[in-house]
Amino acid sequence: MQENTFDSSYDYACQLDKKDELASFRNEFYMKEDIIYLDGNSLGLLSKRAEKSLLELLDAWKQFGIDGWIEGNYPWYDLSERLGGMLAPLIGASPEEVIVTGSTTTNLHQMAATFYEPKGKKTKILADELTFPSDIYALQSQIKVKGYDPDTHLVQVKSRDGRTIEESDIIDTMTEEIALIVLPSVLYRSGQILNMKRLTEEAHKRGILIGFDLCHSIGAMTHHFAEWNIDFAVWCNYKYLNAGPGSVGGLYVNKKHFGRRPGLAGWFSSKKEKQFDMEHTLTPAENAGAYQIGTPHVLSIAPLIGSLEIFAEAGMENLRKKSLHMTRYMMDLITHELKDMGFTLGNPTDDSRRGGHIYLEHEEAARICKALKVNGVIPDFRAPNGIRLAPVALYNSYEDVWKSVQLLKKIMAEQQYKQFENKRGIIA
Ligand SMILES: *Cc1c(COP(=O)(O)O)cnc(C)c1O
Repeated sequence: MQENTFDSSYDYACQLDKKDELASFRNEFYMKEDIIYLDGNSLGLLSKRAEKSLLELLDAWKQFGIDGWIEGNYPWYDLSERLGGMLAPLIGASPEEVIVTGSTTTNLHQMAATFYEPKGKKTKILADELTFPSDIYALQSQIKVKGYDPDTHLVQVKSRDGRTIEESDIIDTMTEEIALIVLPSVLYRSGQILNMKRLTEEAHKRGILIGFDLCHSIGAMTHHFAEWNIDFAVWCNYKYLNAGPGSVGGLYVNKKHFGRRPGLAGWFSSKKEKQFDMEHTLTPAENAGAYQIGTPHVLSIAPLIGSLEIFAEAGMENLRKKSLHMTRYMMDLITHELKDMGFTLGNPTDDSRRGGHIYLEHEEAARICKALKVNGVIPDFRAPNGIRLAPVALYNSYEDVWKSVQLLKKIMAEQQYKQFENKRGIIA
């Protein structure tokens, strides 16, 4: 930041909002007056269009009963494929490479069951030590299913600073014993982006398959999967994609792998024309649809229809540009306004390595988060000492960012946080 040119005034925040071409999308969302929601990286807000598409599918059930599978504006039978097609541009993939199904964790189980084929020396899975626990639990159980010991067969790359993972350390750990690599696209705490293109190239040079968990990048940044040549990916649709609590997730399988048998099969793995032949020999779909298992959770998919229409209109490139500008603005304000208050910016500051949120570290982080909530700012706390703040391009304003930093300054100056215990709540 240039100290001398940075304008920390409220007026400047308002000017930025006036110039913002995406500002009107805020009206699409249910926002509460007097609440500044900065937690869209955990659970995105409800939009009017997502609500509408949910009600529309509820109505299809009311109107058509069983025929809802093939009737109405959004017949349920190919809804997962159709939404896969709408998601594809967000990751730069072909429509047939993407399917809406399962959850991040179940999809990771499916991908590991499909792509983890220990053979000869290559028997281990490579992950990192900062990733989300559910991903690790899934990989540990898949290693056990294949008859190996997770203590020896799950290799976790270490972080040097407790916040980020160096790509070169990952590459150095791609030994001839590694069969499969699973990494996050963006780390859930520090928001660091891993260089997916570089890591994929290096993995493939060594004959290793590689997949990514996109939970913290889908809807927050652009992806170029066609060019990066990643083998597979999984994600949830309830964070930046605003499809609602427990909404159905997504997965990507590179078309070069089409035809690979699903590790966990079910009748929805079938080629669509064959599914109702009811044969006991599965004929899998010849696209990402093969990695579905059972009947889609239609009502938990429905909000995604409306939500993805908004993304198509706003454009992912535009959203990423605004998101980077907002997080940059927030970092500048933090540096300028919260000096000598014990905060450390834990996220990478470089645009090419920064995801959609800010990670602010403080030894009193848990109770600062509680004080923020009482003041109408919704952050989330991540143990041991992190405050995640996500200004979301679709619905947050520069004014939100400005006000939340001012409130944080007030909480610190007045030591308001001391009224709370420095312990996390149940959901944090
Ligand atoms: C949010 C998140 C999950 C959650 O998985 P679910 O199966 O949807 O509960 C998993 N992994 C990462 C990296 C996440 O950010």
